Amino acid sequence: MTFYFEGHELVNPIQQLLICLYPGGEHIRGEGKPEGDDYVISRLQRGGDGLEAVAEDSGGRKVCLKYGGEPENSHDLGECLRRAMYLLLTEDMEEKPRWGMLTGVKPSKLVLNMFRSGLRAAEADRKLRDEYFVGDRARALCLETARVSQKYSDDTDSKDIDLYIGIPFCPAKCSYCSFVSNDVRKWGELVPPYLDTLEYEIKGMGRLLSRHGRRVRSIYIGGGTPSILDEAQTERLLSLVRGEIGADGAEFTFEAGRPETITAEKLKIVEKYGVGRISINPQTMNDGVLRGVGRLHTAEDVENCYKTTRDTTGLEINMDLIAGLPGDDDDSLFRSVERVIALAPDNITIHSMARKKGAPLRFGKSGELSSGTMDRCHEAVMAAGYRPYYLYRQKYSAGGLENVGFAKKGSECRYNVVMMEELGHVAAMGSGGVSKLVYGDGSIERITNPKYPIDYIGAYDRIDQNLRRLSLLLEKD
Ligand code: SF4
Repeated sequence: MTFYFEGHELVNPIQQLLICLYPGGEHIRGEGKPEGDDYVISRLQRGGDGLEAVAEDSGGRKVCLKYGGEPENSHDLGECLRRAMYLLLTEDMEEKPRWGMLTGVKPSKLVLNMFRSGLRAAEADRKLRDEYFVGDRARALCLETARVSQKYSDDTDSKDIDLYIGIPFCPAKCSYCSFVSNDVRKWGELVPPYLDTLEYEIKGMGRLLSRHGRRVRSIYIGGGTPSILDEAQTERLLSLVRGEIGADGAEFTFEAGRPETITAEKLKIVEKYGVGRISINPQTMNDGVLRGVGRLHTAEDVENCYKTTRDTTGLEINMDLIAGLPGDDDDSLFRSVERVIALAPDNITIHSMARKKGAPLRFGKSGELSSGTMDRCHEAVMAAGYRPYYLYRQKYSAGGLENVGFAKKGSECRYNVVMMEELGHVAAMGSGGVSKLVYGDGSIERITNPKYPIDYIGAYDRIDQNLRRLSLLLEKD
């Protein structure tokens, strides 16, 4: 589809909407006079009562919304233009998009901001329905997760900080993976020098945090697959974190991920250093699908690993599933959900498959993941006593659907909520790490580490520079 602009240059809001409504399609910005038989125009024009947002397509259909006087800010104007475009493009859709015209990755942040501006839940719900056209289930999810965010927001002050440490190595690369993660079969020799550089950064971070008197509220070791580290490396990393950062009493997550990397010895080590929560991520409990996406474990490995962890530790356990994996289908997905529920982990996270740009979805007979299928999964999880506590969306996710973290009461992961909803400062260490300083006025400062392990290793100057910048920003706060 070609899209044209007339009378304004607010390209991004319209483009995001097109990507969201037609994730598989090509969206080209047209120049000059509209031509062809598949185009839409977004126009800002002056009518009798002021500005009007118009959306028009090559079939002659048109939606015109009154904006009124002069725009107070480009955001409001962009929303009005997007609304006109959304109404035009969805006019003939039998099933309206679950998330209406919301395109951002953090839908509950919008609701949290509504709460902060004094709106009650019923008013926020109405706004989501009438102004953003969000469907019933998505609104319910949004409101519930926004209430959780509010609780964490109220419990976070500007002296708090949450920490992330990245271990970007995996036993093998999953075919659908869009993270920077290095297959250790090929890049294993990078692990020791990576840990050396990480040690340097963790020590620097420890000094910085004590100089600024920051209270560490959570530590999240993610990846990649952190449990790819052998026992000695795991002990080295965790003793370093405890020795340099301290943070006794803070929430501490070690994202183990792949069951074949978790040993009884590693579990003992993580508990010894005060980790309270790990992830064992099946993604699916269908062995054929696991093989197809390049995972080296089976569903039985997941169950055995889960059992060992439960029997030998007091760790809280999260399990991730992905809806929409290639080769999977509705029934198999639902069976995976049931099998995971039967294990009774503390948290279950259901992701919707994020496709690489333009890649077709290969799920079930129709090649689509429907919102009805996702609803069925959510219902089963909630019927088993879990509640949604954080929520985010990704570009190009299957069916435009969402990722939802569910938790049994009291087992919510603070780091996930604070990081996803940008409720407080997060300092990240390791390659690909992005530290975010979140200020009271909603502004955010980012500091980025080198993206790839190969560039991060030995990048001591850059690490020093980033720590200095972080220090300056914390000083000003
Ligand atoms: S385990 Fe996760 S990070 Fe590693 S390759 Fe698979 S999807 Fe990527």
